[in-house]
Amino acid sequence: MVEFSDHSLEINGKKITWFKDFLETNTNKIGIRFSGGSDSTLLLWMLCHFCYKAKKYDMEIYPFYLRDWWKKVPSKGNKLKKILNLIQQEFPKLDIKPLDLTIFYSYSVPHIPLKDSKTIIDGIQVLRLEPSCEKKEIELRQKYGIEWFINGRNLNLTKEEILQIGLTEKDYQIRDVRRDADKILEYTYDRDDLFEPCDTIKTMPFYNITKIDVKDLYEGYNLLEKYFSLTDSCTSNKFPFPCKECFWCKERRAIFGMYDGGIQ
Ligand SMILES: [Zn+2]
Repeated sequence: MVEFSDHSLEINGKKITWFKDFLETNTNKIGIRFSGGSDSTLLLWMLCHFCYKAKKYDMEIYPFYLRDWWKKVPSKGNKLKKILNLIQQEFPKLDIKPLDLTIFYSYSVPHIPLKDSKTIIDGIQVLRLEPSCEKKEIELRQKYGIEWFINGRNLNLTKEEILQIGLTEKDYQIRDVRRDADKILEYTYDRDDLFEPCDTIKTMPFYNITKIDVKDLYEGYNLLEKYFSLTDSCTSNKFPFPCKECFWCKERRAIFGMYDGGIQ
């Protein structure tokens, strides 16, 4: 990993310029979709890190998390607050607002095509996370005047890379295809006419890096012990947790060597 003086950086040959671009604007209110996963935690930490490097201390950062009403596993609320508190302590000059934790009512059916979010399954309307997040962003923008929203979405490994890290063809099939290299920039929320066009590069600082790069950034910034260990990747909505079955569990185990909670 190399950081440049203009606040861009390079990881495994890929350039990350979002922080540089952001710091060249006058934006000082930003919302972050904060799930307490490895990606959003790293993203928030790096945002604070680059604001400090640029001596940009007038930041108001608004983390928000949408918890699926259907989830049977315990709320991550306290865990998320712990991560936020640690980051706030490390960067006391920035203003990280209290977590906005919203319960939303979805029906978690993996891999429903995005446009099918109005599908009725078992008599229940399916609401995907993405349109719910978008509505939350609109609400927060109106309430606090937030100018910009970001999230930690990043790129899938290719099939070859998946096999190289010890996962199988079957594991590759259960990935979120919207994160494939040829799809990630086409990604838009399931929006209606109320929403502005989505600028994916602007909202996704990590759009061109993979989880392997995420791990290398954790290592490069020496954040594995302090922050990564607190993150959760499993998206299962029932016990046992972590499920060790979902793509996020498998990917985490293959790349970081452990499931959530340090479980081997
Ligand atoms: Zn899982």
